[in-house]
Order: sequence, then C-alpha cells, then structure tokens
Amino acid sequence: MYVCDDCIKSFSAWWSREQHCTATGHRPPKYECDTCDAYFGSEQARWQHMNAKCHFSSSSDGGSSSWEKCRLCNDAFYTDKECNDHMVNEHLYCRDCDRTFMNHNNLRQHLNSSTHRGSTIPCPFCAATYTTATGMTHHLESGACPRAPSLNRNELYELVRARDPRGIISRHSVHPETVTYTATAAAYNGYGYECFFCQREFGTLHGLNQHLNSPAHQEVLYHCPNTRCGSEFKALAAVINHLESESCGAMRFETVQRQIGDIVSGNRLLQF
Ligand SMILES: [Zn+2]
Ligand SMILES: [Zn+2]
Ligand SMILES: [Zn+2]
Ligand SMILES: [Zn+2]
Ligand SMILES: [Zn+2]
Ligand SMILES: [Zn+2]
Ligand SMILES: [Zn+2]
Repeated sequence: MYVCDDCIKSFSAWWSREQHCTATGHRPPKYECDTCDAYFGSEQARWQHMNAKCHFSSSSDGGSSSWEKCRLCNDAFYTDKECNDHMVNEHLYCRDCDRTFMNHNNLRQHLNSSTHRGSTIPCPFCAATYTTATGMTHHLESGACPRAPSLNRNELYELVRARDPRGIISRHSVHPETVTYTATAAAYNGYGYECFFCQREFGTLHGLNQHLNSPAHQEVLYHCPNTRCGSEFKALAAVINHLESESCGAMRFETVQRQIGDIVSGNRLLQF
C-alpha cells in the first residue's frame, strides 16, 4: 500500500496516492522507494533497500512498477530473481554469458563451470583478459595487443598454419597476405559511400574504409574442423566464435576456452 505522509490514508495504487496528494497538497513519504511502496526513516535506509532489492529501475513508467522482462519471451516478473529463474528453467538461458543451452544438463554443467564463474581468457602476450576465446583472438588478430603489435590476420594465420599442416582448421592459402584497399571520395554515389565489391553503402568514407579493411573481402583462410559442417571463415576469430557458439557441435564451449592458448601461441601441433 502507498501511504500519504500527512494523513492516515493509504492507497493500493501509486497513481491514486498521487491523485490524493495533488488534490490535497499532502506529500508522499520523504524516503520512499522509487519502485515499490516501502518507505524508510532515512535516505540511507531507502538506498540500502533499493540496492538490496535491485529497485533502482532504469525503466521508470511513472514509478508504479519495475517489471523485469524475460529477454527471450514477453513474460514479465516482479523480481529479478524470478525473471532469471524463468530464463534458466524455461529457456535454458544463461544471462551472464548470453548463451542458450541444448538441455538442462548442459546448462547445469555450465553454471558450475569455471567459465561461468567469471574465469577469463588471458592474452598470452599482455595483461588483457577476455570472457570469450573469440574476444582474445580478435584482440590478437586486429593487431590491438601492445606486446605483440606485429601480430595481425596474416601473422596469426602463419602461426596457426605452421602447427596445422593437415589443415584441421586452416586452409592452404595461395596468397595469404591481406590486401589493403583504400576508398576515396569517388566512392560516393550520391547517397552514401559504396563498396566496390559488395555494393554495401556507408554513411561515411571512414565507415567504408573500415569495412574494406575488415576481413569482409579477404580470402577464406579457415574452416570448421567438423567436416560435415563445412563452414568457412576469413578470420581466426570467426572460426573461434563459430566453435564457441557450439552451433554445429564440433567442440564444446569449455574445450575451446581451454585450448585457445595452444591455438594462438602454443608450439604443439593442433589437435581436436
Ligand atoms: Zn493525505
Ligand atoms: Zn522497493
Ligand atoms: Zn521467457
Ligand atoms: Zn554463464
Ligand atoms: Zn594482448
Ligand atoms: Zn563490401
Ligand atoms: Zn561448424
């Protein structure tokens, strides 16, 4: 019940208390939760409550409710915990990792694994850590690592290729060097900057050049180790992402996370 601070009336709905206060000039309790009807003697107590109950709601629709919405269906829940329980039980979904699982058993294993409990994938060269092997691989492949600045898509390919002579994940490349394309203002077609290869339009010349220097129009260098899958990739981070997604079942997410160090920097031959 929402109470009025100046008289003894209480109201079942936030908006009727609001009407009452507007009509009478009365005030609501000074330290009331922004989300529910609880009120307190001090700002500190109010803040503690809102913190403990996750009542700092970003979606404020008049302060009347803070429904937690399921990310996968339209169900709404009063508490964050109920909402999370629903996503786990009904959708086999791990919110922290943004991943869906095949069955309850897989999800339970995942929730108990070190992966889920915030284990991180370290860059083998610098102090950076990533929650996915894909993130770490992209860090190296894009030349972003301060301790291995010479590493890029080509160098990483050479490294992987040297340890993957049978071509489990890499393809023999005729011309492994990354070709650099640079677009000029001439790419403007009256509406946007158009890619010469795929006719995609970009709002800025910078955007088009970023696209041209992404692996989008480069040679296919990798493929999924699952021969029945046949997916091909232009960047190592893309294969790793495919494997981490477990979309074709070639490898378990946890296995990718365990092996990624060997894949990008080990000296053993690759085997899966
Ligand atoms: Zn009143
Ligand atoms: Zn509250
Ligand atoms: Zn749902
Ligand atoms: Zn998780
Ligand atoms: Zn690094
Ligand atoms: Zn393009
Ligand atoms: Zn695959």
